[in-house]
Amino acid sequence: ADVVLEVTDLSVAFPTEEGVVRAVSGLSYQARLGRTLAIVGESGSGKSVAGMAVLGLHDPRRTRTTGSIRLEGEEVVGASEWTLQALRSTTAAMVFQDPMSSLHPFHRVGRQVAEAYLAHHSVSKAVAHQRAVEMLDRVGIPNPHRRANQFPHEFSGGMRQRAMIALGLVNNPRLLIADEPTTALDVTVQAQILDLLGDLRREFGSAVILITHDLAVVAETADDLLVMYAGRAVEQGPAREVLSRPSHPYTEALLRSIPSPSEDAAQLRPIRGAPPSLLTPPPGCSFHPRCAFSDGMGAVCRTDAPAWRPTPGLVNRHLRCHLADPVAAIEIAGGAR
Ligand code: SF4
Ligand code: MG
Repeated sequence: ADVVLEVTDLSVAFPTEEGVVRAVSGLSYQARLGRTLAIVGESGSGKSVAGMAVLGLHDPRRTRTTGSIRLEGEEVVGASEWTLQALRSTTAAMVFQDPMSSLHPFHRVGRQVAEAYLAHHSVSKAVAHQRAVEMLDRVGIPNPHRRANQFPHEFSGGMRQRAMIALGLVNNPRLLIADEPTTALDVTVQAQILDLLGDLRREFGSAVILITHDLAVVAETADDLLVMYAGRAVEQGPAREVLSRPSHPYTEALLRSIPSPSEDAAQLRPIRGAPPSLLTPPPGCSFHPRCAFSDGMGAVCRTDAPAWRPTPGLVNRHLRCHLADPVAAIEIAGGAR
């Protein structure tokens, strides 16, 4: 009953003049109340597309979506715009990297939050305004009464981000999807916003999906982790366990490519090569051109796409890789480096 979102075998493709861009393929995951799920990947991994699909934000005329997305039991794939609008904000809301994608530049911030509330509640304007001021206060905006009457351009970047979160949460959604919500902010403000998301999740008991390229952010905030590569999930499990004991060569490579407090920059190894085109992904395992383990595997990585399966030897973990014992393979290789 605590599963808010159930995504099953989701594929999202965009037909273009050059061919079909397969942004997301065969993706399955769940989001649960009171937990933060981080979806991690490089740009072009499909993580944002996977988030937007949950709210039905892709233009159906330009998108082919198959599989199932159930939001509190309600099917999103193929749903009418009317149904989607009802689901958005009451069941699930999304915040983006750029607050101005959600905030109207010429309307007072308090009015925007109040109108989002009025759209779903039969209350007076005064009550809605009061609710807006409360929400601004709740997300840590000082002097909320005065701030409610200001325009977005009168806010700092961090304050705008808070206002967008207030807008997203005003109707108490069961699921909040945050797509790179702190990428544009400086480190201090970033930490404050992440703390805020954690507090709100605890207070409202909602589920949070945090979409990010930043593994440091994941380590700070996530309960569960889904790693995406070239439109597919490649590894999934409890965040702390995946980060301390990665079982997929891509996760391991990602972890090696970021600085950790115990390593100096000289030990960092950027992942060789670049993420593949989603128009013409490599055959077999799409990570094979960059994988340090593929040469030792014969031809299989170049010819056969690995299946999504439970990770051998670990509980609550899944991965997509041909290695017979991926955990041991990675640990042995790590020891040899
Ligand atoms: Fe590397 Fe092969 Fe595993 Fe893909 S299937 S991650 S190429 S070892
Ligand atoms: Mg993105």
